[in-house]
Amino acid sequence: IKRVYLLDEGNKDMKMLLGGKGANLCEMAKLELPVPPAFIITTETCLEYFREGTGNLPAALDFEEQLKALEDDTGKKFGNPQNPLLVSVRSGAPASMPGMMDTVLNLGLNDEIVQGIIDTTGNERFAYDTYRRFLNMYSDVVMDLDKEPFEEVISEIKKKKGIKLDLEMEASDWKEVVGEFKKLNPNVPTDPREQLRGAILAVFRSWNNDRAIRYRSYNGIPDAWGTAVSVQAMAYGNMNDGCGTGVAFSRNPSTGENKFFGEFLPNAAGEDVVAGIRTPQPLEEMAQKWPEVYAELFKYQGQLEKYYGDMQDIEFTVENGRLYMLQCRNGKRTAKASVKIAVDMVKEGTLTEQEALLRIPANQMDFFLHPTLDPKAEKTVIGEGLPASPGAATGKIVFTPDDAEAMANLGEDVILVRKETTPEDIHGMKSAQGVLTALGGMTSHAAVVARGMGKCCVSGCTAAEVDFRAKTLKLGEVELKEHDVITIDGSTGEVYLGTVDRRSATEDADFQTVLKWADDLRQLKVLTNADTPEQAKTARSLGAQGIGLCRSEHMFFAPERISAMRAMIVSEEKKERLEHLETMGAFQRDDIAKILEEMDGLPVTIRLLDPPLHEFLPHSLDEMQALADTVGKPLSVVQDRVAQLQEVNPMLGFRGCRLSVVYPEITEMQARAVASAAATNKKAGLDPKPEIMVPVVSTAKELRLIVPRIQAAVADELKKAGVDMDIPIGTMMELPRACQTADQIVGTEGVEFMSFGTNDLTQSVWGFSRDDAIKFIGRYQEQGLLDFDPFARIDEEGVGGLIKTALEKARAKQPGTKVGICGEHGGEPKSVHFFHSQGFDYVSCSPFRVPIARIAAGQAAA
Ligand code: PEP
Ligand code: MG
Repeated sequence: IKRVYLLDEGNKDMKMLLGGKGANLCEMAKLELPVPPAFIITTETCLEYFREGTGNLPAALDFEEQLKALEDDTGKKFGNPQNPLLVSVRSGAPASMPGMMDTVLNLGLNDEIVQGIIDTTGNERFAYDTYRRFLNMYSDVVMDLDKEPFEEVISEIKKKKGIKLDLEMEASDWKEVVGEFKKLNPNVPTDPREQLRGAILAVFRSWNNDRAIRYRSYNGIPDAWGTAVSVQAMAYGNMNDGCGTGVAFSRNPSTGENKFFGEFLPNAAGEDVVAGIRTPQPLEEMAQKWPEVYAELFKYQGQLEKYYGDMQDIEFTVENGRLYMLQCRNGKRTAKASVKIAVDMVKEGTLTEQEALLRIPANQMDFFLHPTLDPKAEKTVIGEGLPASPGAATGKIVFTPDDAEAMANLGEDVILVRKETTPEDIHGMKSAQGVLTALGGMTSHAAVVARGMGKCCVSGCTAAEVDFRAKTLKLGEVELKEHDVITIDGSTGEVYLGTVDRRSATEDADFQTVLKWADDLRQLKVLTNADTPEQAKTARSLGAQGIGLCRSEHMFFAPERISAMRAMIVSEEKKERLEHLETMGAFQRDDIAKILEEMDGLPVTIRLLDPPLHEFLPHSLDEMQALADTVGKPLSVVQDRVAQLQEVNPMLGFRGCRLSVVYPEITEMQARAVASAAATNKKAGLDPKPEIMVPVVSTAKELRLIVPRIQAAVADELKKAGVDMDIPIGTMMELPRACQTADQIVGTEGVEFMSFGTNDLTQSVWGFSRDDAIKFIGRYQEQGLLDFDPFARIDEEGVGGLIKTALEKARAKQPGTKVGICGEHGGEPKSVHFFHSQGFDYVSCSPFRVPIARIAAGQAAA
């Protein structure tokens, strides 16, 4: 097997074997760009090293021939003091893992060789500067010594001399540093070949350092790939003022503007730019200083971008006026830049629309829908939670929904801070600019509702100590009182002290272009989860093709409505319940008519009530008293009834269709409300397309009981109104039993569609509570037991496996049954790919995720 490649033996398509960096070095060399000679040790050799497990380099690895080639190319000799070849040893995985693995520079030095450099070049400062860099890096990377004592040596000398900058250090100072470094670590091998073997081993080992493992787990990079190692002749940016080093992008990575962009540091080594030791100069200054070098660099960046068909991130070094290209790769960029670059490249004829679409990071596209923090703004992070609903907001903190409303009415911007939110908080959430909660995950009440409202929300900020009585919020050392100002970023989950400048997101023409590409390609329909006319309107403006889930219980979140709902829940007898149901029915009819109107001509799936009891029962004495007043009963009666209804596991409790089983009158009220609203709109000349969906179904027998009741109520209502229309009925698939018996479910008379409720399905397949799993999911991720939060992204193996089973059974029984998904996963790009691959008809997601789902669905089909 071939373990070592010279640059003319590889190319850009060999990333798996030579790593991204190595493959691109080969390609640049092929394009005859000035790349310092190098050889690459393959990723397979790295795997061989781990397999052998001896702690030594694989016995079969031999790079003498290639090292000789480097010597011949450079005219230098490795280990020869008269004309020494120094090399860099760098990691390079098949996928970019910036900064995660190790690198050793300036390798091949010892006392004798340093003296040789001084003798031949007369540049003592350069020789000692380079030597101290090597000793420092080798001690850190290969020998695992603490960096700090080394840094202290340099600071001490600077302090003694009253200087601040590395540039002010003289030859004798670096010489002193070298002396001290050797005292700190007298064991750096002096044999250059031993150094080289040590460095290669260290790079191999770094594939499995904690950082790298975590990075791979978060980015879905397989552990089994291994890293390549490139060994390359050094080019020096730190010899004198005719040298320098820099990083450049073929387009602006922040705005996407098609303008060569970069930074440059004269008389410095590459690691100085990365470490931010000095502030680099803009490339324009290099253009002034060295016009020819700049012109050459400019030519190469254009050539590389055209060649790779993507924006390039380039590292270069100038040694005595000669340009060397050290690295090129597709550049990381902001959401805004990714869209602009994609659209520009299509206009320029570099990419097809389809290729450009695939370059868009769909999950970052909420940038275009919400105001975002100005990345340049100064900020003090005081806490971190989950990025539950994107956007950024600044405001005075308040601790109750009523305070939020009152303050908002006075024209103040507020952030509602709660331990967790419940339906009573809705008006406060509406009034607030943003919501911060200490508890709750990505599908907690606060998160779901906030996303629905397009309101920014940070949930699960577990370090936050919220005392709503004292009206204080403690975050670590920081103690805040009511009306203190904070800023939250629902896109990152961060919480900041005070005001942070924001930028408003606008209707971006390039973004619209990308959406159109996606729409032209995609096979999945994108519907929305919306419970109010306003949400329906927003979602439609963002491209929703209907409503896949209207949670009818959410229509009762407003204070004047929740009392009707509560009264109904605590009713002791049917007569009483019917009374309250009538009040509820009136609200519902109105709302549904308005929602149907906003979505006129498009399907609107109204789901029967699914109120987990803990979300709707009154909690405090005040609330119980208010309820007692509403229903005209003594407080004690209400208290007893509430106690009776209390459940230990409300999410597995008396909810969904179980209500319909026990209280058929609830279903009847709802079916009538839907039919009557639709009839009203129809008579007004509109084109309503309602559908009715049954939640939390476990057995076809439930449907056999409930569906005919819906049909009868609908038929009766339509007949009364004198309107003829079809209102399809379907079922949610959100429990394992329903999935396992999907054939029976879709085989039920009158069931025309199924919509997977992946929130409850995830909860019930994993046995993780939606509301509480946040407490340990983070730890699971840290320890590599979970690569991602299964409530945010579909678990294709487990939950997805069950979905596949359900689809197979359902399709065998009733081919062509309409299939959708309306859990939170409907707006998550990787999950959207999965649903596309399983031939779903639609995904349904929060209004503000509709554009993301459109792009992801387009990409899935591309
Ligand atoms: C689900 O469970 O995925 C779902 C959409 O319903 P809800 O979130 O209202 O329980
Ligand atoms: Mg559900």
